[in-house]
Amino acid sequence: MSFLFQPEPIIAVPIQGSQQLYPVRRIYCVGQNYSDHVREMGGDPKQTPPVFFSKPANAIVINNQQVHYPPATKNLHYEVELVVALGSGGLDLNQNDVQACVFGYGVGIDFTRRDLQLAAKQGGKPWDVAKGFDESAPLSALIPAVGIDCSRGHIWLSVNGEIRQDADLSEMIWSVSDIVVHLSTLFALKAGDLIFTGTPAGVSAVSAGDQIKAGIAEVGEIEFELVAPRSC
Ligand code: MN
Repeated sequence: MSFLFQPEPIIAVPIQGSQQLYPVRRIYCVGQNYSDHVREMGGDPKQTPPVFFSKPANAIVINNQQVHYPPATKNLHYEVELVVALGSGGLDLNQNDVQACVFGYGVGIDFTRRDLQLAAKQGGKPWDVAKGFDESAPLSALIPAVGIDCSRGHIWLSVNGEIRQDADLSEMIWSVSDIVVHLSTLFALKAGDLIFTGTPAGVSAVSAGDQIKAGIAEVGEIEFELVAPRSC
């Protein structure tokens, strides 16, 4: 048997200091995981448990490549996030299992069509069109988790050199291990699953021509230009 058409290539992310690539299976994302950001979006962090959503693997943009401004929005927001890359998984993991499941970390941007997300929230509708669009998940090279402490560390994002997000990983409401444990009650997690762990305060709109740079202490940095929409 042969394929009806050529399958798309596996989405693969570079690994710092390695010739190997990390093949991506799924992208899970956590919403509302920093108190200041929950407040800026109009919520109460103590009454708003984290929400999970997902993006397609082919939303990833690697190697600091340009990102095209997406269609169907007038309010595109950046969200810098610690990304957890699983090297193994399972169902109903406990806290003691998590460390062995985490292969590494990266710096990701959860681009969001905020206008469509607000409409979805108001209408009680799914977030897919607000979150899962093409090129909505720029991602840095991954760093292996050995020796990396992601319970704290500076997380920041700048637009055209001006700092817009400036926080610490210790401000996360749900820790990396909390997130993995909770997610494993909902899905059988596997090697190749990425988890975007939520963004701190300071989100706002960007435009074509903006230069976006972001980083997380110990993990790495990402830098790219947001460019005009694709013409076709
Ligand atoms: Mn996010």
